[in-house]
Amino acid sequence: MNPNIFKAYDIRGIYGTDFDEELAYRLGLAYSQLRKGELPAKKELEIVVACDMRLSSPMLKEKLIAGLCAGGVNVIDIGLASTPTFYFAVAHYNYDGGVLISASHNPKEYNGFKLVRERALPISKDSGIFVLRDLVIENNFSKATTPGKVTTKVGVLPDQIKHDLTYANLAEIKNFKIVIDPANAMGAQYFDELFKHLPQLEIVKMNWELDGTFPAHEADPFKKENVQALCAKVLSEKADLGISTDGDGDRIFFIDNSGVALDPGVTRAILCKIFLDENPGAKIAYDIRPGRITRDTIIENGGVPIVTRVGHSLIKEQAIEEGAVFAGESSGHFFLNMPEGCYEVPMIVTLKILEELSKSDLSFAQYAKAYERYFHSGEINTKVENGAEKIEQIKLKYSDGVQDELDGISIEYPDFWFNVRSSNTEPLLRLTVEARTNELMEQKRDELIEIIKS
Ligand SMILES: [Zn+2]
Repeated sequence: MNPNIFKAYDIRGIYGTDFDEELAYRLGLAYSQLRKGELPAKKELEIVVACDMRLSSPMLKEKLIAGLCAGGVNVIDIGLASTPTFYFAVAHYNYDGGVLISASHNPKEYNGFKLVRERALPISKDSGIFVLRDLVIENNFSKATTPGKVTTKVGVLPDQIKHDLTYANLAEIKNFKIVIDPANAMGAQYFDELFKHLPQLEIVKMNWELDGTFPAHEADPFKKENVQALCAKVLSEKADLGISTDGDGDRIFFIDNSGVALDPGVTRAILCKIFLDENPGAKIAYDIRPGRITRDTIIENGGVPIVTRVGHSLIKEQAIEEGAVFAGESSGHFFLNMPEGCYEVPMIVTLKILEELSKSDLSFAQYAKAYERYFHSGEINTKVENGAEKIEQIKLKYSDGVQDELDGISIEYPDFWFNVRSSNTEPLLRLTVEARTNELMEQKRDELIEIIKS
């Protein structure tokens, strides 16, 4: 087993090369030991297990469940589920935690594990993943005298749909035509269920059959090449909008009626406006990477902006701590802080966007225009061995800007601003630049890339 599969937010690697079923079994034992140690007063723990449609998922799931049972916790098997449905199951029914088998948007050779505590609180590297790694490597488990039981639970997704539908007024949603591309991955599962309740919509389905070989394209809508066909289809179908989701369905992306993919920062800003309309004066959390339209929108709509570090577990933690109603990462993760938990809600996001567009006479492209004030570079990753040194160099060169070290280095000038930070898992520097004009964005982007590569 390659110990580097234990990453900042999950466990991920190439199945058969980096890890196999033995890891799944030991992880089951390690997870049950961790949670039993944390909840000593509870007699019986109930842990949700689910998996995505990858070819290696069923075998891994079987061994994971065997490990959990040997460790003495009861397993609630919810079967094939997206990440948001997995989170919902843990949070909504009040289980003691869960393990999902999925490698999100990674290519088909990969697989992995997402782990949560009660209320779907993520377990990250410092809050348990590295403890689990050490337990797995030591492999010195004492098995429970009474093995855990497995219960199969059906009907989770319909319960989730019922819950999510309460966040929108379905009768107000117009008869839009929508093209959806879930990349043969988990988003197809929840959209199928959701749209049963919205007969007024005309849905054009692309790459819909669940298929762990990803026959059409990689399940990562963040990369332009993966949404090209969807953008073209929105145009040729004369649709009102397009939607794409990533492999495990926790990230969602929108295409406007002119076939242009919305910057996730713009989608986030629109959602800020929507949730502030419903919750005047509320706090909203967002990550520090450039995406200023979010801050503008929160302030213009009377909300309170809360800036967080990058990473879904960090932003969730802070949203809960500060009582933010909504939170969003510029990578396409959008979270609602609900009474039962704070996690990604792509179906509620879809409903709210459709509801908002229904209130307006504008097309999606016209509507989004008001939010397209700045020019964004996208995330530019560069392999470097001396990341910390580069960051120091950048701080020195831009010493007359306003600097913030919450996550890497953020530097602000009146007309442009940027963030450079080290990857949590690889020898990479991640750069994002935003500016008031495209020319300035390109100029500063190239200037910074040159420093990073020098
Ligand atoms: Zn994902």
